[in-house]
Amino acid sequence: MRLILLGAPGAGKGTQAEMLMKLYNIPTISTGNIFREHISKNTELGQEAKKYMDEGKLVPDELVLELVKDRIVQKDCENGMILDGFPRTIPQAKALDAMLEEIGKPIDSVLDVEVPDEVIIERMAGRTVCPSCGASYHKLFKVETVLGICNECSTHLIQREDDKEETVKKRLEVYHAQTKPLIDHYQQQDKVLVIDGVGTVDEVRARVKKALGVN
Ligand SMILES: [Zn+2]
Repeated sequence: MRLILLGAPGAGKGTQAEMLMKLYNIPTISTGNIFREHISKNTELGQEAKKYMDEGKLVPDELVLELVKDRIVQKDCENGMILDGFPRTIPQAKALDAMLEEIGKPIDSVLDVEVPDEVIIERMAGRTVCPSCGASYHKLFKVETVLGICNECSTHLIQREDDKEETVKKRLEVYHAQTKPLIDHYQQQDKVLVIDGVGTVDEVRARVKKALGVN
C-alpha cells in the first residue's frame, strides 16, 4: 500500500500514520528523516543536500526526488510506504508521479484527514504550560485547579508562541494554500480519500480503515 498522508498540523495525522504502519507493515517516509539519515551517513546525496541547507536554501526538487527514490527502493518499502510532508508542490507531485510510474510503484491513495480550522484552533489554542515544571494544561480537557496557576508548583501558566491563536491560524492558512492544489491534482487521478478527522482516535481510525476497504 503506497499512500500520501495529508492533514493540517493538529489534525492528528501522526496517530493515523502509526496505525497504518502497523496495519500494512510499511514505514513512514518524511524528507526531513531522509535528509538526516543521509547527512549522518555522509553519503554523496547527503553532502549535496547539506550544502543547500547550510546556506539556508531549499534543497532543489531534483535532489529531493533522488533522495526519496533511493529510500523507496529499500527493502522495508517492499509492502509500500506512507509519504508524510512530501510532495508539497505540484512540480514535486508531478515529478514524484513520473518517478513512481517509472519504477512501477504508483501511489494507491491519498488520505486527506480533514478537521475544521475552528476545531484545530480550539485544540491548540486551549493549551497552556508551566514555564517552571513543564506541566501542561488545556482549558477544555485538563483544567488547572486555580485558573492560570500550575497545580504542581503554583507558577503562573503561559501559552507557548506556537499555540497562540494567531500563530495557529497563520500555520493553517499556509497549509491550506499549499495543500489545496495537491488535493486537486490527486483528485484528477481519483485517488483522494477524504477522512473526517473529528472524533476520538478510534473513531477516526475506523474511518481510515473503512475508506481503505480494510476491516
Ligand atoms: Zn509547574
